[in-house]
Amino acid sequence: MPGTTAEPVGPAVPGARVFAGVGPELFAAIRELRPRRVVLQVPAGLTRNAHELASRIRTEAEVAVVLANRACFGACDFPSGDEAPRADLAVVLGHAPIPNVALARSTYFVEMREPGGDPRRIARMVRDAGLPRRLGLVASVQHLELLVPLQTALAEMGFEPRVGSGDRRLAYPGQALGCNYTGAEAIASGVEAFLFVGTGQFHPIGLAFAVDRPVHAIDPLRNVLEAPIDREGLVARRHLLVAAAHDARRWGILVSTFAGQNRLPTALALQERARSRGREAEILVFDRLDPRDLEGRALDAYVNTACPRIALDDAPSYPKPMLTPPEFLAALGERPLEPYRFDTYH
Ligand code: SF4
Repeated sequence: MPGTTAEPVGPAVPGARVFAGVGPELFAAIRELRPRRVVLQVPAGLTRNAHELASRIRTEAEVAVVLANRACFGACDFPSGDEAPRADLAVVLGHAPIPNVALARSTYFVEMREPGGDPRRIARMVRDAGLPRRLGLVASVQHLELLVPLQTALAEMGFEPRVGSGDRRLAYPGQALGCNYTGAEAIASGVEAFLFVGTGQFHPIGLAFAVDRPVHAIDPLRNVLEAPIDREGLVARRHLLVAAAHDARRWGILVSTFAGQNRLPTALALQERARSRGREAEILVFDRLDPRDLEGRALDAYVNTACPRIALDDAPSYPKPMLTPPEFLAALGERPLEPYRFDTYH
């Protein structure tokens, strides 16, 4: 229910509290903490509502509020201490905490849980579409509450639905995170296909990269069951990119300074691997990557250690090949490209 607490079942996150939606419980918790100033961060899709939300928090919780102007894409890039130095509480909308990412200050995650969706109707659609009996279930944070009733409804129709638990980057069993599908990977060998519950293509595509099983997706509010993702096509395009980067001599290794995207040790290890193979490799540090920042550089190709989805989803925005770390090692000849390995951010 919007406004009620939705504590993560994963490891506790020091400094974090979790709320299902914007409502009285959130306002009461802010008042109780008595912060001097709140920094509010909303995801790109909610920018239009940001000012109204800031105003509600200001009025209902009786506190000064500043708005983080930078759109965020995940709980990995919450406002840093430098971005809002005088705020002692961050309110982050639309994301669950990432348990193994340390927070810069007290942070309230408002997950914007969506109570809609009819599990029995979804189960009937799944049955009528002929999806396999042994089915793995994954959901976006907004629709996680559907997983248990959907599991029950599917089981009553003769399915064997399973929900997996992932590593310490995931707060909940069955949770989809764009850089980590370890919950699905944990059960992949025991299922014939996956069903993603949520909206859009972002998670179905990530899931298809991560597990070598057909990935179906259902929008539980519109009751639309999508055709399975073309994993073969996705992976084939990555093969082409790796081939294009195969002879690159000068590599740029991209490192983000965002708290939950910073893999500097990985970048340094990749730099070593490149040098041992006779390649040049420069580490480039940034917070949020803008394609224009890479214009005019005397580099032949890039390997991205920040959000894995930059390389996988935004490749057309970059004029030079941009690989994930496993793809980079394949381009160097250090590992095979198949079976394809998703760049899981642990
Ligand atoms: S690293 Fe990328 S996919 Fe992972 S939480 Fe951050 S924005 Fe999302």
